[in-house]
Amino acid sequence: MNTKSFFIIVSLLLLGCNSNHDNDKTKLVVGVVVDQMRMDYLYRFQSHFGENGFKRFYNEGFVAKNHHFDYRQTKTGPGHASIATGTPPAINGIIGNDWFDRQSRKSRYCVDDSTYKSLGTARAKGKAPTALLVSTFADENRLATQMNGKAVSVSLKDRSAILAIGHTANGAYWFSGGDEGNFISSTFYMDALPAWATDFNTSRKIDDYLTTWDTYYPISQYAETGRDDSPYEKRPKGKETPTFPYDLAALAATNNGYDALQATPFGNSLVTDFALAALKGEGLGADDHPDVFMVSYSSTDYIGHDFGTNAKELQDAYIRLDLELARLFRALDTHVGKGAYTVFLTADHGVAPVPNYLTDNKIPAGYFRKKPFVKALEKALQDAFGLNDIILDVSNDEVYLNRELISSAKLDVDVIRRFAVAFIQRQDGIAAAYTTTDLMKMDADNPIVERLQNGYNPKRSGDVIYMLLPGYIAKRTYGTTHGSAFIYDTHVPLLLYGNGIQKGQTFKRTKISDIAPTICALLEISNPTGVTGNPIGEALLSR
Ligand code: ZN
Ligand code: ZN
Ligand code: ZN
Repeated sequence: MNTKSFFIIVSLLLLGCNSNHDNDKTKLVVGVVVDQMRMDYLYRFQSHFGENGFKRFYNEGFVAKNHHFDYRQTKTGPGHASIATGTPPAINGIIGNDWFDRQSRKSRYCVDDSTYKSLGTARAKGKAPTALLVSTFADENRLATQMNGKAVSVSLKDRSAILAIGHTANGAYWFSGGDEGNFISSTFYMDALPAWATDFNTSRKIDDYLTTWDTYYPISQYAETGRDDSPYEKRPKGKETPTFPYDLAALAATNNGYDALQATPFGNSLVTDFALAALKGEGLGADDHPDVFMVSYSSTDYIGHDFGTNAKELQDAYIRLDLELARLFRALDTHVGKGAYTVFLTADHGVAPVPNYLTDNKIPAGYFRKKPFVKALEKALQDAFGLNDIILDVSNDEVYLNRELISSAKLDVDVIRRFAVAFIQRQDGIAAAYTTTDLMKMDADNPIVERLQNGYNPKRSGDVIYMLLPGYIAKRTYGTTHGSAFIYDTHVPLLLYGNGIQKGQTFKRTKISDIAPTICALLEISNPTGVTGNPIGEALLSR
């Protein structure tokens, strides 16, 4: 063989190695969490998606089509905690966005911690993941790489950014709205915001979004949702009808400044902008130590709450989110290299259809009024046991009893719990109620019982847990919400793409707590400290 052909063969071999990263470990794991995204949205809006957003997962990745939350508190804080740790609230301790703290006798927010200060803002109190009782897969990757692999997260919401990444993160960043419009952090992670973050804030890129929100494609093409002007949607302050177009500069003036952007697709665009700044600024995926980058899109949640599951506004939000994903993929291809990174996409919970929309279509649904319910329960307990203030708090569909008062009155707390259960079960809108003691003795083969048990944390939960009927939500005048153990709240997508991922799909039931062990298997590192899930083997290439 002459020198020239030898050179060509060697070049081809090297080229082959370069373009095929299948045997190389991933350089970056990107976890995309879409706030309030139900699985059916993927099917429903699919015909409007381009080739480089959601379809990248479909065409080249793995799709888990029967992926579920396995606990009842389907809310943002618990959702992000469960994705990151591979555990339900029973183990990770995040039993709600807020919960009643027996020691201080006050409600606490899941990421508040006054021992730290917020950075880049004059508005927010200190935040930290202190209430999260276990490690995350990003934490395990930090440990496995001797802290050389980075861990960074971005979201509009503090709880999403903080709980998705964990205790050892280099940085978690979230949005301060109002008159600030900055991405901020906490002294828990760092002494001061990095230059790339302050540069982003001072650029006032955000002001580009105080523009007009109209549908991306002509609204006549949005056949998969109901009419724009529907009685189920919120009328934003300063606007007569819930209809396109929305003048965002005008809405910002009447709706607490930059907060107005959160319930528009531009909140998600802003997250992509900041995420790309973080990708470059932190040099994520730049070296051979794998990094973890969590990007959480929350505008879909604000829009879903305001307009419901059948709104043109929601459809436009997902059509535009597909373009944001394409933008994220493009940046990862450029900065990390196609085949060198891995992306997964999931949601922190689903959402219920608007109850009024269901009942208008003869489907059972309704609204639960908590205030009169609590009042009636208080009165019934008072009449039966002769004590005032037996109830300390009712939150997250749990009743906290004043155990000290009950025992000092020489009453049996179990008798009072059972009395409360019998009373609650008779009320309108209630499906079932259990004392937490009885709940833990029940058969976990019943899937609803299992979801209630997985939500019960002995140190933080209450004395009695109740469930609303399917299709019922807490009373509100427009839009909808989430937080139940039913399928509209539990069924979310899990999509995987890139380095180490096997192309395919499954209808096998997979759980949200399977995500963290799957990523740990991909990275070949130890699991978070509380993991209850299992790796989804079909999704991973054999190496
Ligand atoms: Zn959420
Ligand atoms: Zn509308
Ligand atoms: Zn929500």
